[in-house]
Amino acid sequence: MPPIEFPYELVANTPFSDNFDQISGEFPDADVKIITSGGLRILAHRSILASSSPVLESILGRPRKHRSSEITIPILGVPCDAVALFVRFLYRPKCTEEEMDKYGIHLLALSHVFLIPHLKQRSTKVLIERLMIDNVVDMLQLARLCDTPDLYLKCMKMISSNFKAVEYTEGWKFLQDHDPWLELKILEYIDETELRKKKTRRNREEQSLYLQLSEAMECLEHICTEGCTSVGPYDMDRQKNKGLCSKFTTCQGLQILIRHFATCKRRANGGCSRCKRMWQLFRLHSSICDQPDLCRVPLCRQFKLKAQVKKGDDARWRLLVRKVVTAKAITSLSLPKRKREEEATDHLGVGSFGR
Ligand SMILES: [Zn+2]
Ligand SMILES: [Zn+2]
Ligand SMILES: [Zn+2]
Repeated sequence: MPPIEFPYELVANTPFSDNFDQISGEFPDADVKIITSGGLRILAHRSILASSSPVLESILGRPRKHRSSEITIPILGVPCDAVALFVRFLYRPKCTEEEMDKYGIHLLALSHVFLIPHLKQRSTKVLIERLMIDNVVDMLQLARLCDTPDLYLKCMKMISSNFKAVEYTEGWKFLQDHDPWLELKILEYIDETELRKKKTRRNREEQSLYLQLSEAMECLEHICTEGCTSVGPYDMDRQKNKGLCSKFTTCQGLQILIRHFATCKRRANGGCSRCKRMWQLFRLHSSICDQPDLCRVPLCRQFKLKAQVKKGDDARWRLLVRKVVTAKAITSLSLPKRKREEEATDHLGVGSFGR
């Protein structure tokens, strides 16, 4: 089989074109021979190999018996066409999609072994794009061998979200027989993902509870200060509040609760759960309220005084208060700017009305 020799045309327009002899117009003779598994010999130039890969540079820098003798580098265990493609890439860093499809795996392995970052990036990207249920376990093993975190994580995610299907692949069966540690790692990852999902769900539910409480606090102030459809302060101008409240659902629920609280015979002490809830909402308001002297919410000052006498609330209550305050801050931050300004003027209006 005649050796492959890379013609200087390949090199003349690359960053390596320094090797091109400007005066004679000739490219120096090939001085490295690469031997592949299939017996293919590839002739190449040491200056180009050495400047592309620190590993090749160190191989080429080793002392030799005869300074002038040709150096031989074996690159075995990879199809010879893949090696030829790899060497060509060192001359001109371009590969067609078709070549990548066919030899992406080998190029990743070669780029890892010979430390060629841009080829590694390119082949990783291609392999990620072509991930499939059928090859994902093999790709995971490759990613681990070649220390490619991007590919590794993509594979883990794909396996984790398609585990039922992956279990039937040849790759998975092979892995179970030959690499129990990696199998364990995958199962752990799936468990962690499940846990993370559960935790996120729980956090979201909690967050929505705090948001509801925060909205209830807003409504409580609004009802007790300016009044709403059916409940309001004694000096409320009922003519003024004909329109539908902007937080109708929460506000109406709260108004029903307030009316109940005002008329219930059993009260919180008597074990009425609705009154107890209202009582907690008044207490929560008082913990959040920063203007107790001007505030028109019932029991606000009483709760403040009680908290002072008791030297503060207990830790769990303080945590609840902090979460509700944070939820309020988050909603006001996530409102678009114009809405926020409207709200701010709204609040100013409420403040002066309260005085
Ligand atoms: Zn309202
Ligand atoms: Zn009651
Ligand atoms: Zn208050």
